Amino acid sequence: MLTEHTQELYLEKTALSALAQRYGTPLYVYSQQALDNALAAYRTAFAALNPLICYAVKANGNLSILRRFAEQGCGFDIVSGGELARVLQAGGAAERTIFSGVGKSRAEIEFALRSGIRCFNVESLPELDRINQIAGSLKVRAPISLRINPDVDAHTHPYISTGLKESKFGIAYDDALAAYRHAASLPHLDVQGIDCHIGSQLLEIAPLIEACERIVHLADVLAQDGIALSHIDLGGGIGIRYRDETLPDLQAYADAVQAIIGERPLSLMLEPGRSLVGNAGVLLTQVEYIKRGEAKDFVIVDAAMNDLMRPALYQAYHEIVPIRRKDIAPITADVVGPVCESGDFLGQDRTLAVEAGDVLAVKSAGAYGASMASNYNARPRAAEVLVDGENTRLIRRRESMEDLWACEMA
Ligand SMILES: *Cc1c(COP(=O)(O)O)cnc(C)c1O
Repeated sequence: MLTEHTQELYLEKTALSALAQRYGTPLYVYSQQALDNALAAYRTAFAALNPLICYAVKANGNLSILRRFAEQGCGFDIVSGGELARVLQAGGAAERTIFSGVGKSRAEIEFALRSGIRCFNVESLPELDRINQIAGSLKVRAPISLRINPDVDAHTHPYISTGLKESKFGIAYDDALAAYRHAASLPHLDVQGIDCHIGSQLLEIAPLIEACERIVHLADVLAQDGIALSHIDLGGGIGIRYRDETLPDLQAYADAVQAIIGERPLSLMLEPGRSLVGNAGVLLTQVEYIKRGEAKDFVIVDAAMNDLMRPALYQAYHEIVPIRRKDIAPITADVVGPVCESGDFLGQDRTLAVEAGDVLAVKSAGAYGASMASNYNARPRAAEVLVDGENTRLIRRRESMEDLWACEMA
């Protein structure tokens, strides 16, 4: 959705320079068309399976983004009571919401049960017992799925690889049958499904397909054991293009899943996060200073690791471009923020034709950008804007100084 006209970058039909001018920087900007297209790509690829697509709210939980997906019938994958509250506040349907995560508290489980969520993706035996007990006290049956660790190597960054034996996530493949038997023995649980999520920013479909095979095989084993499941949930994890990555083929993945499921009476759920929002957003930031260092030069900008943590956290690469092309000599420099940490960079060794006052676009910032933002260094969080053609709407106002201490007592 990013295009260039007359040396200026546009998101849809809106010049980024106009947005920076109107709303200030740092500023997150999202394309509604890009959100819609990304969801439609899943719908198209998986059309034959009619899956319940549960957007992973943690990638970007802005209410307007959730509402946009909810209006298109999307479900949600949540990992906290706060995310459930966001989904409900945005008009999302509890009956299309599934609850993942290793540490669900009693209060969160009760909230989810009272709200009538679709399913708990359970990650351990003690969690099964806890949900059973709370469901009993509420006189309901809790719909559950077990997150099984298929033990496939997702070939991604170790911090975002979750399907290996060493991971804190899920239940070991070899322990699955025993865990399901235990679940089936608990009176207040309704055992419905099986789920997995092997990692994030996956660029190959082979591990996803392998995980699907192993999960469906387990569903067969369970059916023979008298535990008939009604759905499988293959998680999220499809990668996006940050730089020059070759993208996984969604249609090939969908076709493989369809072939594996075959005639089994299993419905499909998916939990995409990054691939629905990542390339729909950019972070606009203004250059404060060009600092010539002894060994290195720096482009010091007004966005920092508190606004976009991925570079500092995962050494993630985000393309950075000036929003207006200039005929000046480029410099090679690290693009850094004002935060007092050496790890506070948005990009390293970038060649940019920029001067102080120019605005840069940090690309592919729609996922795990605003949702991971903090107030570190007492920096008010950035505003967020949704673009639809030439229309723009503020979907989160910039935080004020008072917001910084709104919860504190002096
Ligand atoms: C983070 C997460 C997702 C979404 O992952 P993406 O890589 O953003 O698609 C889906 N399911 C679970 C359980 C997760 O933890």
